[in-house]
Amino acid sequence: NDKLQIVKDAIKTYVNFPKEGIIYKDIFGVYQNVTAMRAMNDLIINHVRSLEKIDVIVALDSRGFLLGPIISSELGKPFVPIRKKGKLPGNVKRESYTLEYGEATMEIQTDSISSGKRVLIVDDLLATGGTMAASIKLVKAIGAEVVECLVLMELNSLNGRSKLPVPVFSLIQYN
Ligand code: 5GP
Repeated sequence: NDKLQIVKDAIKTYVNFPKEGIIYKDIFGVYQNVTAMRAMNDLIINHVRSLEKIDVIVALDSRGFLLGPIISSELGKPFVPIRKKGKLPGNVKRESYTLEYGEATMEIQTDSISSGKRVLIVDDLLATGGTMAASIKLVKAIGAEVVECLVLMELNSLNGRSKLPVPVFSLIQYN
């Protein structure tokens, strides 16, 4: 697949960032190359069009926000953010978890999705799966259903998808 190779080639790898021992995959390399950005958007849109009845797109702070609104616009479905703690106004639900590097708390606005809606959660990268697992809990906590988690990149060796009770789609996998 030509488009997939263009996207893969545009992702930059940084060793020992943000900490010793972490191999960091940088999605912004894709955004610096418009051909790669469009190829990535085409591939993602092609996949989400195959999904059955998605009502809401949820994306994760902050690089998920690069992908979520594009999917939302294409499907004609609303976009809702899950953010790091303290950034969302109004009533929120909160979930804490362990990250590949550090600890974090994520929040969703309690009135952002009505109960029973079918949700697609989007982020740039799945590592240990902690962020995504917490996000699934948050969506469920406000009464909605997670249909699938979509990421651009998945780090297979960390086996994040085994933590997740829903299907995971990744465009690119690293071993
Ligand atoms: P997890 O919770 O799965 O361990 O980590 C995933 C979260 O951390 C995602 O929100 C992702 O943006 C960020 N993350 C972890 N490792 C990397 C990486 O190598 N590159 C990028 N871009 N994000 C990472």
